Amino acid sequence: MNNYKASCRCGNVRLSFSLPVKTVVQCHCQDCRRMQGSDYSTWVAVADSQFSLDSGDEYLSKYELKQSSKSFCSACGTAVYGVNGRHFKEHKVIPLGIVENYSDDIKPQIQVYTEFKAPWTELHGRVPVFPRK
Ligand SMILES: [Zn+2]
Ligand SMILES: [Zn+2]
Repeated sequence: MNNYKASCRCGNVRLSFSLPVKTVVQCHCQDCRRMQGSDYSTWVAVADSQFSLDSGDEYLSKYELKQSSKSFCSACGTAVYGVNGRHFKEHKVIPLGIVENYSDDIKPQIQVYTEFKAPWTELHGRVPVFPRK
């Protein structure tokens, strides 16, 4: 039963996922800033078994790195999901911005790489910061 739906800008790629999610992360690293084109990225990690690509497989393009990848719609360019094999094996990471129905169940739970945050970005006081060793 997939109760959250997400889609790209043009609507060709549609996916869904169900609770409970693994975590919801706000990441301030430079890779995320570049790939999302925004100050920081917010994404939800969902177990593969709770994730479904419902339509648009033929539109997906993939950018692959060693342990990770990012899939995006080749028609509109929207990032739709990624794989982070280093930190979240057997999960998909989905940009929160493409989710169609929000609720507190998928609100941000942790902020990471805050030492790399853009100078103008204010950290969210209610979201804990991951402690760096
Ligand atoms: Zn699209
Ligand atoms: Zn990042």
